[in-house]
Amino acid sequence: MTTTQTRPDQREIGDRVESVLPVLRDHARQVDADASFPTAPLKALRDSGLMGLLVPVAHGGLGGGLDDLVRVAAELSGECLSTGMIWAMHCQQVAALVGHGSPELQADLLPRLAAGEVYVASVTSEKVKGGHLLSAHAPLRREDGKVHLDRDAPIVTGGSDADGFLITMKDSESAQPAEVSLVYADREQLTVRHAEGFSWDPMGMRGTHSGPLHLSGTVAESAIVGGAGGFRDVALRTFVPVGHIAWASCWLGAARGALRAVLELVRSPAGRKQFNLESDLLRARLARVRLDLDTTAALIAQVVRDTSLAPDPEAPDVQLRLNGLKVHAAERSFAVVDTLVEVAGLRHGYLRDAPLPLERLFRDLRSSSLNYANDRLLGANGALVLVDRGVGLAL
Ligand SMILES: Cc1cc2nc3c(=O)[nH]c(=O)nc-3n(C[C@H](O)[C@H](O)[C@H](O)COP(=O)(O)OP(=O)(O)OC[C@H]3O[C@@H](n4cnc5c(N)ncnc54)[C@H](O)[C@@H]3O)c2cc1C
Repeated sequence: MTTTQTRPDQREIGDRVESVLPVLRDHARQVDADASFPTAPLKALRDSGLMGLLVPVAHGGLGGGLDDLVRVAAELSGECLSTGMIWAMHCQQVAALVGHGSPELQADLLPRLAAGEVYVASVTSEKVKGGHLLSAHAPLRREDGKVHLDRDAPIVTGGSDADGFLITMKDSESAQPAEVSLVYADREQLTVRHAEGFSWDPMGMRGTHSGPLHLSGTVAESAIVGGAGGFRDVALRTFVPVGHIAWASCWLGAARGALRAVLELVRSPAGRKQFNLESDLLRARLARVRLDLDTTAALIAQVVRDTSLAPDPEAPDVQLRLNGLKVHAAERSFAVVDTLVEVAGLRHGYLRDAPLPLERLFRDLRSSSLNYANDRLLGANGALVLVDRGVGLAL
C-alpha cells in the first residue's frame, strides 16, 4: 500500500474523532455487559465520515493514509476497544477494496463506503483450517458468468450488523487450497444465516459481537478483489500490513487509555493520599508501562514506513517486523494493563464496577494474542530469522 495522496486536514479529522468519542465512552460499559453490538457508536462513526477515512477524495472519502488510520484507531480504542476494532477491521477491508478492487466494483462501492452507508465485515477464518489466512476450503462455483459462494464463517466481527462482507474462498472446486480469491458481497446478495441456538458470550471483546454465520449467494466476477486466485498478493501488499497496523494501533490506544486513567487517579487529590508517588516500585512500574507504549508506537511507525515504501513486501526484514508488530503489540498492551491493575490495586483495578475500565480492558486485551494466533506468526518469524542471515534491522 502506498500513500501518494495529499494528507487530509489533521484538524478536520481530529474534529470528526472528537465528535464520536463521547458516544463510544457512553456505551463502552453497556456493550461489554450485554455482549451487544455497539449500534449507537457505529451510527456516530457512519455520520462522522470516518467510515470512509481511507476512501480516496475522488470517490467522496477523506483520502486518509496509514498515519491517519493509526491515530484514529488509537483514539477510538482509548474509549471502547470493541468499537475501535470494529472500525479498524472495516478500514482494513476498505484498504483492500481501494487497492485491489475492480473498476466496476470501486465505482459502485467506494462512494457508498465514503457516505458511511456500508460497514464491511471480514470473513477469513473457516472451520476446516482455523485461522490460517492464505488458504481456503469452500470453493467458488461459476455459472453463466456469475460466481456462487457457500461458506461457513465461524467468527465474524459485527456479522449481524454488516452491510457487506469480504470473504476468502478457494477459487474453484479443482483449485488448491492456496489458490484463494477474495470476494466482496453486499448483504442483499447473500442469504445470511445465524447458527441455531448461537449466543455470543466471550471473556472479552464482547462488544464486537463476533458470532458464527453461514453465507451463500451469487455475485459478478468483478466482485473478486485482486482477480481470481489473487488473494495472496492482496494479503501481502495490503490486507496483512493494514490489518496488523490497525490492530496494533487499537491495542496500543486501549493500553494508553488505561495509563491515562491511572495517571488521572494517582495524581488526583484523593489519589495522592492513597498512592505514594515517591515509591520506587510504583515509579518503576509506570516507567515499564510507558516504555511498552513507546516501543509499540515506534514499531508501528516503522511498519507504516515499511508498508508505504517497501518495493518488496516479501523481504524477510519487512515480514519480520510486520509479524513482530502484531505479536509485540498483543503481548505488551496486555502486559501494560496487567501491570496497571497491580498499580491501581483491587478497588480501582479489579472490581468490575470500578470507575476505571481496567477489568474490562484486561479481558479485552487477553484476546489479542488469539486474534490471529501469535503462535502462527512466531512460527513464521522463526523460519524468517534463519533466512535473514544479515539480520537486517531498521537502522
Ligand atoms: C475478538 C475476535 C474477533 C475476530 N473476528 C474475526 C472476523 O471478523 N473474521 C474472521 O474471519 N475471524 C475473526 N477472528 C478469528 C481470528 O482471526 C482467528 O482466526 C481465530 O481467533 C483463530 O482461532 P484459533 O486460535 O482457534 O485457530 P488457529 O489460529 O487455527 O490456532 C489453533 C491452535 O493452534 C495453534 N497454532 C496454529 N498455528 C500454529 C503454528 N504454526 N505453530 C504453533 N501453534 C500453532 C494456535 O496457537 C492455537 O492454539 C476473530 C477472533 C477474535 C478473538
